[in-house]
Amino acid sequence: MKAIYNFSAGPSVLPQEALRAAAEAATNFNQTGMSLMTMSHRSKPVMDMFAETEELIRELLAVPSNFKVLFLGGGASMQFCMAPMNLLPQNAVADYTDTGAWGSKALQEAKMFGQVNVACSSKTDNYSYIPKDLQQSKDSVYLHLTSNNTIFGTQWKELPTPINPEAYQVIDASSDIFSYELDWSRIGMVYAGAQKNAGPAGVTLVIIREDIVGKSGREIPTILDYATHIKGASMFNTPPVFSVYVMNETLKWLKSLGGIKAMQAINERKAAKLYAEIDANPLFKGTAAKEDRSLMNVPFILNPEKVSAEQKESAEKSFLAFCKDRGLETLAGHRVVGGFRASIYNAMPEAGIDALVQAMKDFKI
Ligand SMILES: *Cc1c(COP(=O)(O)O)cnc(C)c1O
Repeated sequence: MKAIYNFSAGPSVLPQEALRAAAEAATNFNQTGMSLMTMSHRSKPVMDMFAETEELIRELLAVPSNFKVLFLGGGASMQFCMAPMNLLPQNAVADYTDTGAWGSKALQEAKMFGQVNVACSSKTDNYSYIPKDLQQSKDSVYLHLTSNNTIFGTQWKELPTPINPEAYQVIDASSDIFSYELDWSRIGMVYAGAQKNAGPAGVTLVIIREDIVGKSGREIPTILDYATHIKGASMFNTPPVFSVYVMNETLKWLKSLGGIKAMQAINERKAAKLYAEIDANPLFKGTAAKEDRSLMNVPFILNPEKVSAEQKESAEKSFLAFCKDRGLETLAGHRVVGGFRASIYNAMPEAGIDALVQAMKDFKI
């Protein structure tokens, strides 16, 4: 089989080790002779696998003991409503940072449950940068952040903290969880759909400080209440067992590489190589502000000084075909940014970056 490098933004590349383990578990999970997909979530092998996955998460991210780790369904998008429903009392205010399409969706949902203060926005500049000045409200319950803006390729280099000493951060880390160490001192909750940097689609990781749950003053449907899932240890209803297993194997792979710090160093080197080529190659141009560039999603376009508006569409198509021919897949940009986007999550090997950089060097219009 020819090597394929999949630069998809999500669902995205997974370690070969995790995929091979998944293939085995599909027919014979841990020498049980049974497919993991056919096993009860309450059976011992599955319960043990959940406990081990939680342990891996706690170890890799140094999660403090007063936080609960939950495996939920519904995607990160469900957390856009579930977080404010559980955390934001009706007459209270939460600060939201409008740094991209996902953050914008999150704040729209929150408006249904309480007051939303938009602490900053880069919307009028097509979210090409991260605003540094936040206008927080002094009595907000929490500050909502999107740590990495998957579509626009910007990432907070340092997550801002709430000005209200009682308030906490709620972080959508869907596209960069497990790529740097988290500072838990001001965090109330972190959530992430697994399918970008942690596993396959189907499971959403929620890590939540226990004391913030149950304070909304409203009635919450049972399945949408964090307290339900804490009490049921993520087994109130049937959890996405197979997805959790692939996450487990992905985290084992991450641990075998040396954990988060080692991964971060690799990611920094990968991103530096790609951005260096974008900046050096006159044919291409990055779209995100340099100081806010993401280590995970790298959007770039054809340089309008080198490629006329008339040439653009066919030149983009021919670059994508040129890349595909070399096994470099899914490089088309998101429609709101255009051009190209290389998503270079944890599981993207450095050889994939080298191959893309070489293609950029070799491509001629
Ligand atoms: C992909 C993405 C989402 C949406 O995730 P779903 O699991 O599809 O709901 C939310 N936030 C960010 C930052 C994302 O990248």
